[in-house]
Amino acid sequence: DTVSRFGGDEFTILCEDICGDDDLTTVAERISSEMSAPFEVQGRRVFVTMSLGIAPSGDAGETPAELLRGADAAMYFAKAAGRSRHAVFDPAMGIRAVKRLELEHSLRRAIEREELRLVYQPQVTLASGAIFGFEALLRWDDPDRGVIPPLDFIPLAEETGLIVPIGEWVLKEACHQARRWREDQPDEPVKVSVNLSVRQLAERSLPSTVQRVLEETGVQPEELWLEITETALMEDPVATFEALANLESLGVGLAIDDFGVGFSSLNRLRQLPPVEVIKIDKVFVDGLQTHPADRAIVAAAISLANALGATTVAEGVETPEQATVLRDLGCELAQGYHFSRPKPPEDFRELMAPGRRRSLSAACGVPRHQRHTHPL
Ligand code: C2E
Ligand code: MG
Ligand code: MG
Repeated sequence: DTVSRFGGDEFTILCEDICGDDDLTTVAERISSEMSAPFEVQGRRVFVTMSLGIAPSGDAGETPAELLRGADAAMYFAKAAGRSRHAVFDPAMGIRAVKRLELEHSLRRAIEREELRLVYQPQVTLASGAIFGFEALLRWDDPDRGVIPPLDFIPLAEETGLIVPIGEWVLKEACHQARRWREDQPDEPVKVSVNLSVRQLAERSLPSTVQRVLEETGVQPEELWLEITETALMEDPVATFEALANLESLGVGLAIDDFGVGFSSLNRLRQLPPVEVIKIDKVFVDGLQTHPADRAIVAAAISLANALGATTVAEGVETPEQATVLRDLGCELAQGYHFSRPKPPEDFRELMAPGRRRSLSAACGVPRHQRHTHPL
């Protein structure tokens, strides 16, 4: 067989004389088992996961170009099915691959055409109802498809590396907004949180990019929180930890996003550079009143955060009851539809106007304007 490096982290293997599906499976399993053993790199044991796409000649075409395209389509299919899988090409994948290419093509032009924008969701202090900060969330207004939510295009942006320029745009845009809010309310600075993907952390230049954006926009490092999901942290711990340490030394706050669903070990958390924020995932908030286990998990996450010297933010708070339970459990901050949906910055203009006391709802989670009304 012939093995070659196709580019980046992609390799192609040409297997001749394959007879039938059993042969295919045997080859796929042999490659997977070879790759599952750890590699030694600079004295460290490194584990590699791999997704395998198989294009049998005939089904996927005959020419090298057709076979490569078929294998690529099958590989994305394998990736989407989870880690360390293999998939064999079928024609439906070809259609998906074309759709994917179209999406990639329009995403490439989205920045130039100014189709990307940020919406902001307030983070509220549970004890007082005051707005503590905002999380910046990305939206893509595609002229043909309408508003595309981030989870529909960020995975593709990560695979293609487009997340790097997109992420830099997000950072700049969010910092400009942070600066505007600070100018309006200089005495009470707001935190602005920006989501980072693991692909951005892998860029060596990320810390200098962050520093440059802070300088250009005049935002202080302590006004910025950078969110990394717990899952991303575990994907590539060695590279990620180093990048996080560099970011932390700039003075920006690090937040672990979607905490509780990402399988991190306590040992890994211990090795992280100081984390300022732990964001408790919405799944646990959802079950606060119905599942005693969820309540216990939230309580444990809050104690863990306290032990690490971190602030807790509860995500996806939708009811006043959830806000009350969270406050009683000692959670400091919350965000969710109960307080506000993510909205364009103009929608917060009045709330954030100079001299305004920016407050969304009372401690118990009852919207401020309803607090003094008489019960029916
Ligand atoms: P996330 O960072 O965990 O953001 C929270 C998500 O929950 C947002 O979805 C938000 O709109 C939604 N949400 C907030 N409150 C509630 C609630 O009360 N109920 C419900 N059902 N949902 C709520 P969104 O905006 O669709 O973003 C999804 C994910 O996409 C984000 O999850 C984040 O991981 C990623 N993302 C968004 N913007 C960016 C970005 O600029 N860069 C990167 N790398 N990722 C981003
Ligand atoms: Mg987030
Ligand atoms: Mg989250």
